[in-house]
Amino acid sequence: MKEAMYYEKLKDGKVRCNLCFHKCLLTTGKTGLCLGRKNIEGKLYAINYGRTTSLGMDPIEKKPLYHFFPGKEILSIAPNGCNLQCPFCQNAEISQTKITTREITPEDLISLCKRYNSIGVAYTYSEPLIWYEFLIDAGTSVKNAGFKNVLVTNGIIEEEPLKQLLPLIDALNIDLKSIREDFYRKIVKGDLSSVMRTINMAHKISHIELTNLIITDLNDSDEDIEDLVDWVSNLDISIPLHFSRYFPHYKMNNPPTPQERLEFAYRKAKEKLDYVYVGNIYIPDTNNTYCPKCGNLLIERNAYYGASIASLNGRKCNNCGKEINIVL
Ligand code: SF4
Repeated sequence: MKEAMYYEKLKDGKVRCNLCFHKCLLTTGKTGLCLGRKNIEGKLYAINYGRTTSLGMDPIEKKPLYHFFPGKEILSIAPNGCNLQCPFCQNAEISQTKITTREITPEDLISLCKRYNSIGVAYTYSEPLIWYEFLIDAGTSVKNAGFKNVLVTNGIIEEEPLKQLLPLIDALNIDLKSIREDFYRKIVKGDLSSVMRTINMAHKISHIELTNLIITDLNDSDEDIEDLVDWVSNLDISIPLHFSRYFPHYKMNNPPTPQERLEFAYRKAKEKLDYVYVGNIYIPDTNNTYCPKCGNLLIERNAYYGASIASLNGRKCNNCGKEINIVL
């Protein structure tokens, strides 16, 4: 436990957390809606500091990050909680309810990275931004030890804390759940403008990739997909975009995303973006990386997250020499 950053003390022992747009107003003894921060006698504490729900090695492709050290593995940890309430959450067991956690220190992370030949640490599975104080401390140690920091995040954070955090972060996969504000407000109790700001800021200093979970009848119309692709392409056509297949889970029973919707999204996005992928379902070719200029196969991936470099010369296409948006 550690005193939180980015909060203010108010009258009568109340505090306001300023880490994300929710701005939780907490009386003594109350916990923020993300489960990670609590008012204890008029001070806000990060009660999740140094406590992880999970610990394991994953292929970097599983995050998913396809353009960041392809084929490598990364140590993956997760806090308990989240600042969104997605009814379709695929990790609700660790994000939406309090569960047992175990202690982990920055020193543990570095020694595990060395022991398991990890490229670094991925803060993932639930919502790492609510682990803010631990991200700052662990991220600093991990970076100073020569390893990478990776965030897999919903992007819900205020501008000032993000500005302080980003220099520590090498790569992010950011969920862009929908391009509609009312989807964020009504379905996941979130804030689209926070996510867009995070994408814009992170894009300037870190490697980013985006994920859009296509959910039957919620964000899967032609217009939803086309408008999202337009927004990404206006930012940068070289940002990798991952469409992901939804399956019923937690509180949501809508049927699984039909393959046809994912193929439509893939086709539409490929008209405007250089790198587009489809996950949570195996559709041949939609996991490979092709040169956007000459079509040469650059990286081949299989359904089990295996990746092999087929034709890259450093960061350039071996065939036509085009520079590829990739970190190796
Ligand atoms: S980080 Fe948590 S406690 Fe702070 S405002 Fe957001 S939801 Fe509330």
